[in-house]
Amino acid sequence: MKPVDRHLADILAAVRPLAPLEVEIDAALGAVLAEDVASPVPLPPFDNSAMDGYAVRAEDVAAAPVTLPVIGDVAAGDGGLNALGPGLVTRIMTGAPMPAGADAVVPVEWTDGGTARVRIDRPAPLGNAIRRAGEDVRAGDVVLREGTRIGPAQIGILAGVGRRRVRVRPRPRVVVLSTGAELAEPGTPLGAGRIWESNSFMLAAAVREAGAEGFRAGSVTDDPKEFLDTLDAQLVRADAVITSGGVSMGAYEPVKEALSPLGTVTFEKVAMQPGMPQGFGVVGPDQVPIFTLPGNPVSSFVSFVLFVKPALRVMQGLPAGPPATVRATVTAPLRSPAGKRSYLRAVLSGETVAPVTRQGSHQLAALAGANALIVVPEDVTSLPEGTEVEVIPL
Ligand code: AMP
Ligand code: MG
Repeated sequence: MKPVDRHLADILAAVRPLAPLEVEIDAALGAVLAEDVASPVPLPPFDNSAMDGYAVRAEDVAAAPVTLPVIGDVAAGDGGLNALGPGLVTRIMTGAPMPAGADAVVPVEWTDGGTARVRIDRPAPLGNAIRRAGEDVRAGDVVLREGTRIGPAQIGILAGVGRRRVRVRPRPRVVVLSTGAELAEPGTPLGAGRIWESNSFMLAAAVREAGAEGFRAGSVTDDPKEFLDTLDAQLVRADAVITSGGVSMGAYEPVKEALSPLGTVTFEKVAMQPGMPQGFGVVGPDQVPIFTLPGNPVSSFVSFVLFVKPALRVMQGLPAGPPATVRATVTAPLRSPAGKRSYLRAVLSGETVAPVTRQGSHQLAALAGANALIVVPEDVTSLPEGTEVEVIPL
């Protein structure tokens, strides 16, 4: 059997970052920056008032209380200001440029609020309530680095440095296709021998949580031809494809039957539990990466976490490797098959981790009640309660 680490390494070596493209900044949420973004100007671009009040010469108010003539108003957005002469003040609003000659702002709360003359009750130190040009960003400073995931604040600073468009690696478009003659759409009645289809919903959601676009292509029966036709039709909109089911050792394995003859997809046994039957390769004229995951819901979920999620990071131009782990003390004894790495569903709370009781790879409800996977190495078959173990938080 192929070691888990080698399967991941093969996948990471085969996938490529998506080509960058330029998008409007309001379409960039969730994408990853493909350029360093610098500011063409200092931010703030000019000295301006941090408060509503009066622009003054600090030395004129040093002997406060004083009453001084108000020569006018400066509002946010005003330009072409006259310089402020000695002994004079001007009303000023938050964000308005400081007039030449003024070197402090007296907040309106320290005054009687007068418009022709104003009584100032307290002296203002030099520079009081002035936001200096360049105190957030200097001209030419890089404000966002290539490889940054774009969230709301990053879209804010893109606009704040005057950008309308930005070069990004787009969110990979991932088509999720389930196979199985037994699968019924949730919301429709269950006939004899059938189960509601859950993998495409779960995997499409996992794709979205990983920063990509997940599209459910629904499910097909166990007819290899139907599978191939559906896959063909979906390839035009896919940067990657995930399938579930149809890759085991039984009969009626449509994914294996349809893709094996192509010679571009490899089906292997990976030394792990759950999730032993795995397939990976490329399909179609554009060599779209395809992950053929096993059908058992817990197996497909664990396979996504271990193999697909890191690959989606590579496609987004992000550093990728095995999932991050923490260490915790296990609250019950563990068993694990020899020669396979186990990923046991568990509840992690603080320093301890409790395996859930139902560890079957079909027991999706137990997965839904878990928040972590305990990793048990290949050469370990049992662990006593109280052992420190490696845990993947979900
Ligand atoms: P397979 O990998 O196709 O042999 O499927 C293994 C097990 O997973 C079977 O019990 C299937 O019924 C179940 N299964 C396969 N696909 C799905 C799916 N999309 N949703 C829920 N269960 C599934
Ligand atoms: Mg099946």
